[in-house]
Amino acid sequence: MNIKMVDLHGQYLRIKQEIDDSMQEVLDTTAFIQGKQVIDFAAGLAAYCNVKSVIPCANGTDALQIAMMALDLQPGDEVILPVHTYVATAEVIALLRLKPVFVDVEEQYFTLRIDQVAERISPRTKAIVPVHLYGQCADMDALLRLADQKNVHVIEDVAQALGARYTFPDGKVAAAGAMGTIGCTSFFPSKNLGCFGDGGALMTQDEMLSGKIRMMANHGQRVKYQHDEIGVNSRLDTLQAAVLNVKLRYLSDYERRRNWVASYYDRSLAGAGDLILPARRRESTHVFHQYTIRTDRRDALKSYLEERGIPSMIYYPIPLHLQKAYRQPGVERGAFPVTERLSETVLSLPIHTEMDDSQLGYICDTIRGFFTK
Ligand SMILES: *Cc1c(COP(=O)(O)O)cnc(C)c1O
Repeated sequence: MNIKMVDLHGQYLRIKQEIDDSMQEVLDTTAFIQGKQVIDFAAGLAAYCNVKSVIPCANGTDALQIAMMALDLQPGDEVILPVHTYVATAEVIALLRLKPVFVDVEEQYFTLRIDQVAERISPRTKAIVPVHLYGQCADMDALLRLADQKNVHVIEDVAQALGARYTFPDGKVAAAGAMGTIGCTSFFPSKNLGCFGDGGALMTQDEMLSGKIRMMANHGQRVKYQHDEIGVNSRLDTLQAAVLNVKLRYLSDYERRRNWVASYYDRSLAGAGDLILPARRRESTHVFHQYTIRTDRRDALKSYLEERGIPSMIYYPIPLHLQKAYRQPGVERGAFPVTERLSETVLSLPIHTEMDDSQLGYICDTIRGFFTK
């Protein structure tokens, strides 16, 4: 049995004709930069997320950087982020000479702790970056109320949760990325909506801000050859937009398939050993970018699975505050106990749109076998 963490080839084959036709159209017109497919895709994604503007860019890391540039964050300004995240979130903060201020995460949901955000907000705090890790929204109601009260921007990192929906206490529903000041996402091939290379986008409900974002992503110019600010060059290729236009039509189907896999794991792994299965937040849907379990026997389980042809991944093995590049004076091991513990216990199992019963049966039997041996 050939089990993969993601099956991009299988996913492509199911929609090959549509993808090929869409890419061929770009080749025929040779509008490789800012072709009409890019504009169509931005409009399509805006409709999907029910957000006013989507500004495509070159990758998710750029999206985060452009967001902070468009909000005029200045060197020395503080940005609060969870310490349990992919490096990109912290990287752009440091690159812009802003100060990353880490907070720990909630153990069962893997997203930032609002009580620690409240403690760490200072007069220098200009933005908070919730990361909707593994596909489920952070505690956005509490976070947005706090940010509003303190007059701080919220930049959502939606790279793992595109399509997730959050329900507020008043019944209003919003998509991940459409709740904060700006949402940033990635179309890296293995993300829930992935292209055939790199891609990313920003989204916002604020039209003024969308103009500023567009300008910052385009060399700081609104009018060609007139540069009002120092920007960057970050675009989504037309060929990638052509792929994404097709795949966007399948995104809700992909979400259903991932949830089917997650439910299968939930049913079949419940009660195995000391396993803790991913908890669902009542307010958020889960798009299951990852299905992440926890066990004290993580490393042994990972090797056991590997020997039996089952891949698995550790997101993330070293917490950011313990990474050489992100060490801060006085922030030692022990500073973020939940994240440190997660780095030793989390394991993400294969989950993708092409998984079938027999693969899942084999994976679950093998995991149960590990715990009863
Ligand atoms: C993938 C990812 C990014 C960065 O996206 P790229 O397109 O690879 O630059 C940022 N944040 C998180 C949480 C991610 O998973």
